[in-house]
Amino acid sequence: MKLKLVDAHIHLDQYKDDDINRLINHYSALHALITVSTDLNSCNRNLELSKNYPQVHAAFGFHPEQHLPSEEDLQTLIAWMAEHKNQMAAIGEVGLPYYLKQDKKEAAFPYNQYVELLDCFIQLSKEWEKPIVLHAVYEDAEAACDLLEKYSIKKAHFHWFKGDMKTILRLERNGYYISVTPDITYEKEIQELVQHFPLEQIMVETDGPWPFEGPFKGQMTHPKMMKESLKKIASLKKLPLSVVTEKILQNSMDFYFH
Ligand SMILES: [Zn+2]
Repeated sequence: MKLKLVDAHIHLDQYKDDDINRLINHYSALHALITVSTDLNSCNRNLELSKNYPQVHAAFGFHPEQHLPSEEDLQTLIAWMAEHKNQMAAIGEVGLPYYLKQDKKEAAFPYNQYVELLDCFIQLSKEWEKPIVLHAVYEDAEAACDLLEKYSIKKAHFHWFKGDMKTILRLERNGYYISVTPDITYEKEIQELVQHFPLEQIMVETDGPWPFEGPFKGQMTHPKMMKESLKKIASLKKLPLSVVTEKILQNSMDFYFH
């Protein structure tokens, strides 16, 4: 059977045109990908890419690891998203600024405003009945869960998730999905997470062009790296690779396309 992969989270807009062409047209195993947006420019580019390539499906949003948008920019973005609702596979990448917050220890860091911004995107996900793609790790995942539960959101995808056992169980109970990047091949923390989390709620992603270490050091991040992730998941779950590959494909299709 021909290999079929779905990259559940990639920033395709951040690749060069030549690389995009090679990555999609010269890699037939890539069945579909979800390209997530970081701001309005990124949304526009991802929309164009989704028109040019049938495998490309765009998510629209505002990445949390950056300065907050002005009120005017936020309203412009939301109006644009409303206008392109029908071309939108999901809302994302949205979430909370875990790494930015670590860098900026000062008390003045406007964390609550990031929470309010996420609240706003979660409301849109509810209103427009779109899945939501979250960047929310460790304690931020708890805060994101509070908001998702407040609006009874069913379809939430925690990309590159990291968190403690309590949060893992909460995500599992709520039926939320996680996705793992190629770092599962060398990060013990992610391997342990996958051992505990149900296969039914796991997807694979690259978060490309984010660069990876270990066996991928120095390489341009490419969806073919997900083959190594699948092998690792199969060994952790003690299941045949074909079963894991099929199940994870099904998970991504169910989450994004049904
Ligand atoms: Zn990302």
